[in-house]
Amino acid sequence: MVATQKPYLSIVVPVYNEEENVKPLYEKIRTVCESIGETYEVLFVDDGSRDKTFEVLSELREGEPHLAVIRFQKNAGQTAAMAAGFEFAQGERIISMDGDLQNDPADIPHLLKKLDEDYDLVCGWRRERQDKFWTRRVPSVVANWIISQVTGVGIHDNGCSLKAYRAEVIKQVPLYGEMHRFIPAMSTVVGARIAEIVVKHHPRRFGTSKYGLGRIWRVMLDILAFKLILSVFARQSNRNGHPSTQHSYGNQMNPKFNVFRVAAFLSLPFFIIGFPLINVAIIAALSFIGLGVSLIGISLITGWSLGKAQREAADLSPLASFFIYRCARRPIRCFGPSGATIFVLGGILMIGLPNVGPILMSIGILTFCCGLFGEIIAYGNAKRVKDYTVEIFLNAKYNYKVFENIS
Ligand code: UDP
Ligand code: MG
Repeated sequence: MVATQKPYLSIVVPVYNEEENVKPLYEKIRTVCESIGETYEVLFVDDGSRDKTFEVLSELREGEPHLAVIRFQKNAGQTAAMAAGFEFAQGERIISMDGDLQNDPADIPHLLKKLDEDYDLVCGWRRERQDKFWTRRVPSVVANWIISQVTGVGIHDNGCSLKAYRAEVIKQVPLYGEMHRFIPAMSTVVGARIAEIVVKHHPRRFGTSKYGLGRIWRVMLDILAFKLILSVFARQSNRNGHPSTQHSYGNQMNPKFNVFRVAAFLSLPFFIIGFPLINVAIIAALSFIGLGVSLIGISLITGWSLGKAQREAADLSPLASFFIYRCARRPIRCFGPSGATIFVLGGILMIGLPNVGPILMSIGILTFCCGLFGEIIAYGNAKRVKDYTVEIFLNAKYNYKVFENIS
């Protein structure tokens, strides 16, 4: 390949402790890419593996001009790894896939073909999923149903990493936390046109899954956060024609700040949990005050973070760095459970201490809302998430090392 030429296709593969999988996977990918006949690069992102994954990849790199390896010195998570891959990818079409041989590279040409039908994102659907029934497939069906209800994006399998993207679109989609499971919904923020096709899926042969049942709870919290994010940031979907022909991506953060939807959403916990309880009037009053404060806060923060989005990545305000760094990267994870706990505690205390209970419950609601604000802030700043994932998260915190890109 000519040094200055950019490849047409980039394959992004995040890997964490996949020493036995990377070599056979790379070989399969190479065979498929050669058969496509376009120029390509394969980016393995080693997400701080503790086994021999990196050694195997480094060895493999010898004499393989198509292979690039990005390494995180610490495990930063699959989303960060994917975001770094998208950042470094030079192709105009990008494919992401798991590094454990569960996705099949043979599906890549089908995804690309669908993408050429004027879509921005083509998702794989593991219809014949080869994972455990009760702990994996059932929760996944339920989660996907909820996600499609909440986000309005009717994709069957959000969690399938095998996807194809137009580079100019996916590079605009903010990714942080564990958002790789919500790429289709997040892509609607930039007005992406989304399709899905059925893909093959194989059982894991080597290594183990990196996620346990804990993901169910995390995904639920994420859905809540995304509902808020989407109601604040989502663009109108009644677009005509192909988005990329409208030259609108440079200006993708087009906030459709709908106070009523946000208010309805924020008052949900109050309506669901608050009403059946005894001291309704007090809780109602305090909750509405909380709600008012929340709404004012959200409008201020939204305006602020959009303005901030124009500035340099490193120039985060103290508030933004608080939410992004101090809160284990996910404000809702930090404030959500504590808010809910305080709320429930307040509810219990109402039995014996009718004065303290409602106050605690309101503090709980406020704490929860705080988590939601944090998501808005993190998201507003995540407009440059590629920068912050790579330069701040991974450089300052996780020190990545790039072993020369392909060109
Ligand atoms: N992975 C990663 N970082 C992590 C966890 C996972 O890069 O912190 C990679 C992992 O190596 C694999 C892909 O993400 O290539 C999907 O992970 P896994 O197969 O464990 O998820 P599952 O298929 O069980 O949902
Ligand atoms: Mg897997």
